Amino acid sequence: MKVLLFDIDGTLMLSGGAGLRAMNEAFYRVFGVRDALLHINLAGRTDTSILLDALNETGVAWDQQQFDYYKTVYYDLLIKEIETPGNGKALMPGVGDLLPLLAKRNDVYLGLLTGNWETSGRIKISHFKLNDYFRFGAFADDSGVREELLPFAVRRFSTLYNLQPKPEQVYVIGDTPSDIKCAKPHGAIAVAVAASSYSLEQLQQHEPDYLFADLSDTERILQVLG
Ligand SMILES: [Mg+2]
Repeated sequence: MKVLLFDIDGTLMLSGGAGLRAMNEAFYRVFGVRDALLHINLAGRTDTSILLDALNETGVAWDQQQFDYYKTVYYDLLIKEIETPGNGKALMPGVGDLLPLLAKRNDVYLGLLTGNWETSGRIKISHFKLNDYFRFGAFADDSGVREELLPFAVRRFSTLYNLQPKPEQVYVIGDTPSDIKCAKPHGAIAVAVAASSYSLEQLQQHEPDYLFADLSDTERILQVLG
């Protein structure tokens, strides 16, 4: 049995900046500050921690009601952004071949482990019709701290399938050092993919269990994930 937990941005797909544009515009509409997100590092972060950074930097006070409202404004803007053609939205190399093959396996289970909130994550992957592959996951709604997310995904998997995976049967597939760091404390296997924001050399420094340039060598990837 293998439980595969996929990151979204830079691993399954690129939103072509749709997420950033929608978060940035929502920040202006809700908190009245323009371009608050343009100078914040996004890769591998949870949406919650990105938003908290932006609030800190602009001196806007935290307010739960406004935070909830922000999410709804962001989701509406993201739907429009993701449906707008162009801007480099893309499925990552190999993903279109790999997912159907993995989904056919009855001892392999596909889930998400992402810094997106669940609604926005699913808006993004639904653009590429990937939602049906992923019946469970862990999201920024569960914790703003990415390293805490894995147990949420495993608990949901266990509830859904009535199976208890060993730590080393859980694989985290992602494109940033943060993805590697959210596997290791839990004894899970870190599979790093250098297809987006970080190079092979940069990811190697964080000692993933497996490291690929991208997911396009289906045969080799299946030897690890299948
Ligand atoms: Mg990513």
